Amino acid sequence: MSADLSRALEAMGIRDPAVLRAVAEVPRELFVPPHLRRSADADHPLPIGFGQTISQPFVVAYMTEQLRLAGRERVLEVGTGSGYQTAILARLAAEVFSIEIVPTLADRAREILLGTLGLGNVRLRTGDGGAGWPEAAPFDRIIVTAAASEVPPALVAQLAPGGRMVLPVGEAPDWQVLRAVEKGNDGANASTDLIPVRFVPLTGDAG
Ligand code: SAM
Repeated sequence: MSADLSRALEAMGIRDPAVLRAVAEVPRELFVPPHLRRSADADHPLPIGFGQTISQPFVVAYMTEQLRLAGRERVLEVGTGSGYQTAILARLAAEVFSIEIVPTLADRAREILLGTLGLGNVRLRTGDGGAGWPEAAPFDRIIVTAAASEVPPALVAQLAPGGRMVLPVGEAPDWQVLRAVEKGNDGANASTDLIPVRFVPLTGDAG
């Protein structure tokens, strides 16, 4: 039950009631391969094929909380993966633009997000998200769900003044830092390192 998962995440320190409600309302089992569905509500990443994972629920909730969404934002997500994080974001923001580089994963996520769940505020693209989505920029929030060795400059350029980006950064295969980058209204950037995380690498030109 996603409600149990939400309560577990609250006990682990997630505080934003809207994030906890979204976790309770989005069935994670929809996004997990059929043979792993019994583990869907455990706080673990799970394989989704092509060497990729559906992220650990705590990390999904923590990154979402760190985006500080009020409901009016346009959000860019790089790394749709299973689409689980996308579905959570769609409940908390005005519009979500999500890019996935592995075509089969992108197709599967499209079927669930636009077909099964019928989310009307989600736009999906198959391709290299390291270059962002220039035609739809600027974005109030950007989230990257794969680790780059440094913050991709194209994404910083597509962040709106007053915007916030959350992404894992680091070279090591098994350890990175989750970083928040804020663009001030004067266009200057400030970074804060949050927690250690472990993500698959960002591929494509920025990877
Ligand atoms: N939040 C997602 C979830 O819960 O399913 C996490 C997905 S996984 C940790 C990261 C995803 O980023 C993978 O599906 C991978 O293919 C994708 N990815 C890696 N590099 C990418 C790039 N340059 N552009 C778009 N997607 C990329």
